[in-house]
Amino acid sequence: MLAAASNKYSGFASASPGAVRIENACTQWLASVIGYPETAAGTLTSGGSIANLTAVVAAREARDPDGGGAVYTTRFAHYCIEKALHIAGRGRSPRRQIETDASHRMSVAALEEALEADVRNGIRPWLVVASGGTVDTGAIDPLPEIAELCRKYGAWFHVDGAYGGLFALCDEGRELLQGIDQADSVALDPHKTLFLPYGTGAALVRDGRHLTEAFSATAHYISPLGESEVGPSPADLSPELTRHFRAMRLWLPLQIAGVAAFRAAQSEKLALARYFHQRLSEIDGFDPGPAPDLSVVAFRYVPEGGDADEFTERLLKHLQQEGRVMMSGTRIDGTYYIRCAILCFRTHVEHVDQAIDAIVEGVKTLNG
Ligand SMILES: *Cc1c(COP(=O)(O)O)cnc(C)c1O
Repeated sequence: MLAAASNKYSGFASASPGAVRIENACTQWLASVIGYPETAAGTLTSGGSIANLTAVVAAREARDPDGGGAVYTTRFAHYCIEKALHIAGRGRSPRRQIETDASHRMSVAALEEALEADVRNGIRPWLVVASGGTVDTGAIDPLPEIAELCRKYGAWFHVDGAYGGLFALCDEGRELLQGIDQADSVALDPHKTLFLPYGTGAALVRDGRHLTEAFSATAHYISPLGESEVGPSPADLSPELTRHFRAMRLWLPLQIAGVAAFRAAQSEKLALARYFHQRLSEIDGFDPGPAPDLSVVAFRYVPEGGDADEFTERLLKHLQQEGRVMMSGTRIDGTYYIRCAILCFRTHVEHVDQAIDAIVEGVKTLNG
């Protein structure tokens, strides 16, 4: 509300040094949360999709200016990666879908095999997109091992951390996300994992130069505005010129509540997901899936007779119609799962208990 009412122009530092100072403070802070060095640069975006697109464009300019380089993802990559490649003019790049392990994480051996095969066949590895928490199950790919392979084969290492990346703020999350600081670029969504209002995403690039090279341009009517002591201007780091003062949405809550409050809320979400998983695993008939990396649990119900996929899908519909809890569904290799994603600062243990009650009662109702 303050950002909208004060209507600060936050494209160029010289036009609104205060707004740009705040944005730069926010992107630097986000970079420090990820563990990036001082050379990093970032830009606040409307969300994770545009953050991923921003990173893909930076990766294209840095490592694939003429096209032809290959892209490596798993089938759990968010669909915005596909959109980003398409928009960036790389929709027809050679594409490798890398196998995953039993916990739905990218197989390092399969990735190396694919990189190796491409090099052997004269195809240049360009971009590896790893997940810092998938949408389906919250799985985190083995980031340190992937980083090493990217260095070895000269590929750009991007981590889509729109959902999970900012869990690096709390101790448990930082442990799980080890290696994210070695990525060439990271996409983040403060409007998810920092519980902030929609319209707050971020793209970070380890070597900030690549962001400037991809997005800065000059024009006579702009040049006098470019000079300032405030640091880089958002307009030089993103496709936007005039833009909303979105840094306010990130900066002010951090000032008011303090970082510790965000950390505590994140730790609570991680604990709640483990608790939900544990409780489901103690109830007959439920397949709670692998233990959660982060705050998503993908589970299903296996009835004594009949089709488990069909039953689980009906259970989800029942829960949604009843409206006590909001969950969604997904299919993993054809198998149907309900996703319990715990990512609201207002969700506490009593709500998770209510969710379990709703699920158990739902099964009873469907079983007649
Ligand atoms: C949510 C999400 C996105 C897309 O982010 P938006 O903010 O919705 O554009 C991309 N990747 C992952 C892993 C996500 O969870």
